[in-house]
Amino acid sequence: MKLVRYGDAGLESPAVMIDGKIIDAECEFSQFDEGFFACDGMSALEAWVEDGCHGGFEVDPDVRIGSPICRPSKIIGVGKNYATHAKEFGGDVPTEPVLFLKASSSFSGPFDDVVIPPASRHLDYEVELAVVIGRTAKNVTEESAAEYIAGYSVIADYSERQFQKDHGGQWTKGKSADTFSPMGPHLVTCDEIYDVEKLRIWTKVNTELRQNSWTGDMMFKVPFLISYISKYMTLLPGDVIATGTPEGVGMAMNPPCYLKKGDRVDMGIENIGKISQRIISE
Ligand code: MG
Repeated sequence: MKLVRYGDAGLESPAVMIDGKIIDAECEFSQFDEGFFACDGMSALEAWVEDGCHGGFEVDPDVRIGSPICRPSKIIGVGKNYATHAKEFGGDVPTEPVLFLKASSSFSGPFDDVVIPPASRHLDYEVELAVVIGRTAKNVTEESAAEYIAGYSVIADYSERQFQKDHGGQWTKGKSADTFSPMGPHLVTCDEIYDVEKLRIWTKVNTELRQNSWTGDMMFKVPFLISYISKYMTLLPGDVIATGTPEGVGMAMNPPCYLKKGDRVDMGIENIGKISQRIISE
């Protein structure tokens, strides 16, 4: 299944995508939020789809697409999870996952504009595989981790490098501005992904391919990450893990090449989807 939400920002309706068509699901499901996942809404949605989406209607394909789930309770970022990016970022390659939080208020739609904060000079892009949690996960084992996944999506971990590296403290400052976490275009359930460790992952800035890698290059794999993170915090239904980015960020170019007003950033992960943002100033 592919879950999608459409409509104006903050007023999105839940829907499913079937054969490229958006079918409204609001007649049966009020939202794709924490409560939906906690009450096993995924099984109910699957049954509704198998039954022919009774009461659903086809949505105008030109409608705005929002994030596929409501704003999560938290977005957990994994830093330097691809060895090649860890090296270009500088410092050591981590021996345990580097974790940070992105403010949930940074969550936005997959095609929404990204707004450069007023004091920003070093805005950068990072494409990442997003894991959406389907059930409350606390101290789970790596072996059972798959049971806690609702599905996958594409998330952009926009990063202000001066805020992140030069302003002291934690990375959270550089990761949390409004519009810094666009996700979508849909949530793809696990049964539709043959092998999540064998997907091409890429970013294009304007016409230039900047990131071009494979999810298999992740050092800490998805089941390990879920188990590891759940030792330190409870993962709630609908929470998002941004699993890290491969090499090719603007900061590591020579000279560094940060995003500027008017740029267009396209990102994608094979078999999951593509997202695209225009960079604008406030
Ligand atoms: Mg990142």
